[in-house]
Order: sequence, then structure tokens, then C-alpha cells
Amino acid sequence: MPLLKSWVASANNADHPFPLNNLPYGVFSTNGTEERCGVAIGDSILDLAAAEEAGLVTVCDIPVFDVPYWNDLMDLGSEAWDALRARLTEILAEGSADQAAAEPFLVPMAEATLHMPIVVSEYTDFYAGRNHAFNVGTMFRGPENALPPNWLHIPIGYNGRASSVVVSGTDIRRPWGQLKSPDQELPAFLPCRRFDLELEMGAIVGTASDGPITVQEADDNIFGYVLLNDWSARDIQAWEYQPLGPFQAKATATSISPWIITKPALEPFRTDTPAREFELLDHLKDCGPMLYDIDLAVTLAPEGKDATTLAKTNYKEMYYSAAQQLAHHTTSGCPMNVGDLLGSGTISGATKPERGSLLELSWGGKEPISLDTGETRTFLEDGDTLTLTGAAKGDGYTIGFGTCTGTVLPALKDPYAR
Ligand code: CA
Repeated sequence: MPLLKSWVASANNADHPFPLNNLPYGVFSTNGTEERCGVAIGDSILDLAAAEEAGLVTVCDIPVFDVPYWNDLMDLGSEAWDALRARLTEILAEGSADQAAAEPFLVPMAEATLHMPIVVSEYTDFYAGRNHAFNVGTMFRGPENALPPNWLHIPIGYNGRASSVVVSGTDIRRPWGQLKSPDQELPAFLPCRRFDLELEMGAIVGTASDGPITVQEADDNIFGYVLLNDWSARDIQAWEYQPLGPFQAKATATSISPWIITKPALEPFRTDTPAREFELLDHLKDCGPMLYDIDLAVTLAPEGKDATTLAKTNYKEMYYSAAQQLAHHTTSGCPMNVGDLLGSGTISGATKPERGSLLELSWGGKEPISLDTGETRTFLEDGDTLTLTGAAKGDGYTIGFGTCTGTVLPALKDPYAR
């Protein structure tokens, strides 16, 4: 599919993240006005609450866009999702009869503040990138036992906290926690010393289910994708993780990008999952190309300084797709809700410059990495700003994800001060 041309001129640039082919959904406000739903097109946002009120866009007999979340639209089901995308494509296309009616509802992106795009119902994070799991397993158990025996058969995950999910741009306070280094006999309660990022994608469940669903049904139930940074306290994690997995190490914050890239925008970029030594059991088998060819990158900018690219990788490095993760999540009968968020797990490629965490890049802190500023890093320092980006490159157009940023604030001097 070529670039679809829009009467919004900035959307017709081959490198712009938000052409008519994309139509990502977000929540925005301007100058302290109410938060409402919008769709990005080039350097602008089409105010869907205003367009709905004017009768230009109608998906339901009650308004669904004058609220600070996309859950109401998701609740209407996939026919409504498709109808909305078709109508927006019609309104914003070059030569559209609706141009004059829609122009007053365009808001310059530069004047908008972006907010959380959904109410997160629940949040689950997986560990489904093979290179990441192999690297971390090698550090802790050696290369022979790097992957646990279950890893090639089920997507490993844990239930996180919806309350800790924040939108890009939110500052992240370095946490305190209980730590114990190997040379100490007893643990101590201290600020985290090994604070890290995890470069991931998040899948948003748009259709609820109650009972086991197939991989195809799971794929149909996914509304769209965002970039996701799963901030991780490695020293807290190392002490707490056995035997029930991560807990406080992953509960400080998880940042997501503000624009939901919907599945139809990503369809042209579908790719196969990697080769497997063990065939998956029937209920987890691929039902066609399950991943997407999306280039991902993460940069680190020390306070007041230029950013250095830490890693570049691709979503196609995943071993399990979001649909396989969602299908696995339901095998027990676990109900899934509209607005559930599934983290992919850290996405690392095969080589060092493709590793999606500092834990891997600095090999557990043993090999400091050099920044373009002349500084080095093993883990994050106060004032560091992390920025995730993602884009799929089409024939003369780009499906961009925008950015997912966060700056590390110093730990509180006394977390119990009142
Ligand atoms: Ca993670």
C-alpha cells in the first residue's frame, strides 16, 4: 500500500510518523481545557469530541469521544473500530468533501498536552524476547541453563499493577527498597542503585473475554500497540524475585507512549515469529504471521546534555506474539477486560548494540558503556532522560509511534518523612 495523501500537508511527508495510513488515537488537552479524544494527522490533532458534537463523526447514539480515555470506543466492538477508521480516512483524505467542515477541529500538536490514552484495567508483563531471556539467564545461571525449561513452551509473565502505568513525559522517582549485595550478610533498606529501563511494546486489549480463547481470537481482540518502558530496580529484583517473581522491583512505574497505533495501521508490516526448536502446543500455535516489523530504539540523555543511542532493535525479535501471550493468559479461564495492557517483555536483538536494557548492555554492571558525552553508564543516574521510539517503514510512508520518555528523579531523602 502506498502513502495515502491527506489535505493536511504535513501528513504527506514520507518520514512523518503520522500520515493518513496511521491515524493513531490519543487523549489531549489545550490550555487547561478538558481532556478528550483525538486522532493525530501530520502536525495536528483532529479533536474528535468537537467533531462528534458537530455530527461530523458518529459511531454511537451517545458521545464516546468527550472523555479522557478510549475505553468507551473499544467497548463498542471491532465493527465500530473499523467504521471509525473508515470515516476518519474519508474525512482526512486529499480531496475530501468534509475538509471545510473538519478544518476548524484541527489543533496544532505543538499546542496540545498528551495524557494517558486509556484507563488501564489491569497490567501484565511478559518475558518473551529470547535474546533478553538468554542474556539475563546467562548472567545469573550460565549459558547452559540460561533459558528455564518452560521458556520455549509458554510465554512467561507476571501480573503487574495498573496503578503504576504512567504516560510518557511523567518523571520517574528512583525507588527505595530492600537490597542485599552478595558480600553482605543481611539486607538493608536503601535507594535503588541499579535502576534500569526495559524497551518493550505494549498491547492493548480492546475486547473482553471470559474463558480460554484461541490465538486467532486473541489477535482479533487486540485494539492496538504502544511503546512501553518497564522501569526496573535490578538490586531490589535480585533479592526479592525468588520464588514468586518480581514484585516491588517492577512496581515503581511503567511508562507508555501516548498514541495508540491501531492494528489496521500495522497490518502491512506483519512478519513471522522466529524458528522454534519445539513446536508449540496447539492452543499456542501461530495462525499466520504474528509479529510486526517495527524498528525500535532507545536513547539516554544525561541532565542538560545530548542524547546517545543506547540500543536499536526490532519487534520481530519476539519469540511469542502479543496474541499468543493473550491466548496463554486466558487458558486458566482468567477473564480479560477492555483496557488490559500486556507488556511484551524486553526486546533485544542478537548483538550488543541491540540490547534493550542496561542490565544486558553493561552485562550486569561489569562492562560500563560509553555515552557520546564522554560519560559512562552501568545503570541509570539521576537526571537521565530515556526516550523510546518506534517506526515501521512502508513504501513512501512511515507508521510512527511517537516517543515514550521519562526522566529519573533522585530518590527521596526520607521516603517516610511526613
Ligand atoms: Ca519487563
